[in-house]
Amino acid sequence: MDHFLYRDGELHAEDVPVAEIAAEVGTPFYCYSTATLTRHFRLFDEALEGMPHLVCYAMKAASNQAILKTLAGLGAGMDVVSGGEYLRARAAGVPGEKIVFSGVGKTREEMRIALEGGVRQFNVESEPEMAALSEVAVSLGVEVPITVRVNPDVDARTHAKIATGKSENKFGIPIARAREVYAEAARLPGLKVIGIDVHIGSQLTDLEPFRMAYEKVAELTEVLRADGHEISRLDLGGGLGIPYERSNAAPPLPTDYGALIRETVGHLGCEVEIEPGRLVAGNAGILVSKVIYVKSGEGRDFLILDGAMNDLIRPAMYDAYHDIVPVREPAPGVEPAKYDIVGPVCESGDTFAKERVMPAVGEGDLVAFRSAGAYGAVMSSEYNTRPLVPEVLVHEHQFAVIRPRPTFDEMINRDTIPAWL
Ligand SMILES: *Cc1c(COP(=O)(O)O)cnc(C)c1O
Repeated sequence: MDHFLYRDGELHAEDVPVAEIAAEVGTPFYCYSTATLTRHFRLFDEALEGMPHLVCYAMKAASNQAILKTLAGLGAGMDVVSGGEYLRARAAGVPGEKIVFSGVGKTREEMRIALEGGVRQFNVESEPEMAALSEVAVSLGVEVPITVRVNPDVDARTHAKIATGKSENKFGIPIARAREVYAEAARLPGLKVIGIDVHIGSQLTDLEPFRMAYEKVAELTEVLRADGHEISRLDLGGGLGIPYERSNAAPPLPTDYGALIRETVGHLGCEVEIEPGRLVAGNAGILVSKVIYVKSGEGRDFLILDGAMNDLIRPAMYDAYHDIVPVREPAPGVEPAKYDIVGPVCESGDTFAKERVMPAVGEGDLVAFRSAGAYGAVMSSEYNTRPLVPEVLVHEHQFAVIRPRPTFDEMINRDTIPAWL
């Protein structure tokens, strides 16, 4: 459920007509709903009620500080994957003790940033990383709580580019080697083993892969405890999918996911962390774009939008599906049209949808890409010297620009010309 609904013939974001935002901000732009962000965060939080837990929003999904502040205000922790994300979370007011540092290639500099600022835990992904973290911690005179990310070798049954839990993926250490690696962690100064981490992929629409992974984590907990390690915290990752295509079967709900967590690891007495990103932000954001031209091709019509792959890369990168709807509500009974929906960028990959059946729209009309809140704005670029797409946050009847569109001068003046030219 989200808060982008037609009302009085017009798409609204909560109580604000989307067209009103477009008139003020220009297109394209991302628009997020506070109520939807809040609702989705709470679903996870409530799903784990009664267990000691922290929901650490995976901020790589949508990392604007206004979004982080909204979620932090509800009690969210953050899962960060870079020094930049760590600093951004801190800038948004998230305390270090609520920040979990994940990622396969943390540099010593990034480690230093987080250790100096304070961190809840590091999720370590390899032995060389563990050695580096130990060195940095010792040099700063601190002891850092760690989990080791294990790769459980389960098939997440998702798009290959976002599966992370198979042995061929670059993430984590093979679960079969866990005892060895934990023994090494316990020997290294500056590290304090506190738990286990796992994250098997993104956009999972089935609970079975989670079940297989969490059962392996539960088994490993017992084994590592028998080896004398303190395992008091389980970071179970993110990855629960969202319904991009409304006609498809709905993915499991956070409540089902919470029940699965209780069932698989609830008996261990551990504090549980989860790291949802997509399910918190995905349906809480839309990308609003304007039709530049409707061009008739051979046997097909092209809807050419002012939004492009540089603004939303998911269709080009993951063959992702987004519902694309007119901002003005179609009159009942209008004949649908069929379009190839494209952007202006000079690549054939700049195609959002092929042969998409949708209500007919014309030049100057606004359309909205639904479910664009996660992995949308954060993956945008200025390819083709197109200004970085702005972001807007709605709260009931108010809206605010939370990242303005840069001017052409700002973009162009970022280049510096060497003295010899
Ligand atoms: C990307 C990522 C997540 C979030 O995944 P979603 O599918 O957005 O929920 C959580 N944890 C880690 C380590 C990740 O890399």
